[in-house]
Amino acid sequence: MSKKQDKSFDVIVIGAGPAGYSAAIRCAELGLKTACIDNWNNDKSLVSLGGTYLNAGCVASIALLESARIYHSLNNLKQHGIQVAKVTVDIALMMQRKNQIVDRLSRQIADSFIDCNVTYIQAEAKLFNERQIEIKPSDQTTASRLEAKHIILASGSSPIDLSCAPIDNEFIIDSTMALNLDSVPKRLAIIGAGVIGLELASIWNRLGAETILLEAQESFLSMIDQQIAYDAYRIYTNQGLDLRLGARVISTKKSSKKASLEHSRKVTVNYQDNNGTHALEVDKLIVASGRRPNTENLAAAEADLLLDENGYVHVDENCRTTLPGVYAIGDITLLGPMIAHKGIEEGLFVAEQIAGFHNPVNYHLLPSVIFTDPEIAWVGQTEQALRAMGEPINIGTYPLSATARGLAMSQTEGLVKIIAHADTDRLLGVHIIGTQASEMIAEAVLAMEFSASSEDLVRTIHAHPTLAKALHGAALVLKNQAYTSTSSVF
Ligand code: NAD
Repeated sequence: MSKKQDKSFDVIVIGAGPAGYSAAIRCAELGLKTACIDNWNNDKSLVSLGGTYLNAGCVASIALLESARIYHSLNNLKQHGIQVAKVTVDIALMMQRKNQIVDRLSRQIADSFIDCNVTYIQAEAKLFNERQIEIKPSDQTTASRLEAKHIILASGSSPIDLSCAPIDNEFIIDSTMALNLDSVPKRLAIIGAGVIGLELASIWNRLGAETILLEAQESFLSMIDQQIAYDAYRIYTNQGLDLRLGARVISTKKSSKKASLEHSRKVTVNYQDNNGTHALEVDKLIVASGRRPNTENLAAAEADLLLDENGYVHVDENCRTTLPGVYAIGDITLLGPMIAHKGIEEGLFVAEQIAGFHNPVNYHLLPSVIFTDPEIAWVGQTEQALRAMGEPINIGTYPLSATARGLAMSQTEGLVKIIAHADTDRLLGVHIIGTQASEMIAEAVLAMEFSASSEDLVRTIHAHPTLAKALHGAALVLKNQAYTSTSSVF
């Protein structure tokens, strides 16, 4: 922040997570005088741009997941004829590597801000009337006001607290702290088998923690295609995850200091299911029961920003709030799910809208990924949703175990499922569970962006041998060419 602070901008962005930093950089690229205000400090009290996604979410999570995957695979090398004497894990070094990745990417954002002339202001920001923003630096000493022709709200989200499991940052922790543990808990429970709960379970289970997931819903991953969910449940359970569905946590009790010295277990989790009430003793409890938008202190009452009863900012399909010149993007709206690339696309869209262009986000073709091992990725509609709408559909599935690449990699768990309209053959949904599903889904997104048919996928030459051949195989099966799929060199 320069000593003599500019007070007036074309655009002020509140929040430097993926939605906010993309918006700010694109605005500046388009010649708009732009400021971005953010108050994130890392555990060393240093500025760290990138929001939750970078500092305490996806990036930190995939860095640790990769370490856990390598550690686990080293214990399973016998089939390759490789003997490893003793594999040990140094959690402190693992965390250091993760932190270095986070720092590097955060610096990259800061460098882009400098290169594009985005004014970065480290402070807490609040929206007032007439697109005025009050900023309070972290020392809380002097508040001052800025103004802009356009404001973009991108303040992100935070973990939802559960009154039955209050966070103490020691034994009962949230998803942020769960990416910063200094040792592998012997026995770990996680409240919530949603995306975050499963990603954290995948990390710590692979590093050796006995991991129990307590999920209040009876169904598993109800938002994804249920054939994939069924396979995921089977694979995770075989990996040793203890998945308890219909298990609603009602209270927790920490052991007294004396008791926790005598016993190894630190927390008792009480939960209810159809069979009654149960008590589970664990060393650590992670609360991953959902996220809420960060809008509590985002706007002063006089600004009259319209929120719904859960705190989400009311927006139209162009991310415009009810206030003229004020936009909201990313996790604080209900336009699409809470995923980083949705926020990024909205950031670019709003920046271009302000500059006079109209390139809207295609919410129908947002890919989703669960970064477990194996990964789950999908785009478009599920079989269940399409059947409920009465759409005539054709389906093709292909297992990774039938691909040469999957076999060579010893990555044979999972499948690709393609759904096309029965009359037009247009692709309506692609669902993948398997290693590198997050990479494979890109082909499906591109195909669907171009309104491809399953025939187009069949006619597209896929390199051999690759995992993407499973996508090709599923298209062949859909077109009743199952024998071609197995007889061609897959
Ligand atoms: P979620 O809503 O997906 O899952 C939380 C789960 O906790 C729910 O299934 C709920 O039934 C359960 N739950 C709540 N209270 C409970 C209780 N008392 N006992 C037992 N179970 C309970 O939320 P999340 O996993 O925290 O994720 C939050 C958001 O962040 C989601 O929108 C998710 O898509 C997004 N996210 C996405 C990614 C990604 O794209 N890879 C990564 C992280 C987060």
